[in-house]
Amino acid sequence: LYVEHPLGAGQSVPLTREQAHYLFGVMRLGAGDAVALFNGRDGEWLAEVAEAGKRGGTLACAEQSKPLQMPPDLWLLFAPIKKARTDFIVEKAAEMGAAKIIPVQTDFTNSERIRQDRLQAHAIEAAEQCGGTYVPEVTDLQKLDRLLANWPEDRHLMFCDEAEAGATGGLTGAAPGPWAILIGPEGGFSEAERSRLTALPQARVVALGPRILRADTAAVAAMTLWQQALGD
Ligand code: SAM
Repeated sequence: LYVEHPLGAGQSVPLTREQAHYLFGVMRLGAGDAVALFNGRDGEWLAEVAEAGKRGGTLACAEQSKPLQMPPDLWLLFAPIKKARTDFIVEKAAEMGAAKIIPVQTDFTNSERIRQDRLQAHAIEAAEQCGGTYVPEVTDLQKLDRLLANWPEDRHLMFCDEAEAGATGGLTGAAPGPWAILIGPEGGFSEAERSRLTALPQARVVALGPRILRADTAAVAAMTLWQQALGD
């Protein structure tokens, strides 16, 4: 179960109404039952139900069952598309161990607004579901131009582009270190963006096979390729 509260030996963790409903109403747990907790910062902890109520309750934290497992230093930058597909991208990025998820506004981005809180909740749920102890931060929508203007010197960028003639088939020989993957919107990248990206010394243009993939498929394919070449 994901909680916001700090976790540690002897910590008493208060439950929200929704958490109490889930544990005591849906899961039918009661006083003395064990629950595994994580908050994205302190690893996984085993706790016992101390008080169970309809509107709340408390858990008593006992011992750590898993240390915090930090993901590799990989960011996923993607242009938000339709709601369900955007949710899918965030969910899969959290499952695959992205450290940070950054929705970007590009020249052809389909949606101008995102619900950051909703997307963050999807990332928490995905981490919970796959037994992770880390939750990637989902940032607010950021302008690609601005990000590129201040791009960190030491962060490599895997620029996924189906239309780039110089694109390589993968990441062979790519240097380890901090990386980011960039996936475009349904309409792809503009020529201005392409020139800016190919001029960025940290960027490497990568093709994900000969066919044009949908952005959500491309995000998963790119993360898999990165994992294979540079992940641990
Ligand atoms: N520009 C295209 C068009 O309108 O025909 C489609 C863009 S594609 C649906 C969305 C994004 O997925 C692209 O911007 C790119 O980042 C990524 N992508 C899709 N297929 C790819 C491929 N074969 N190689 C590299 N990236 C790909």
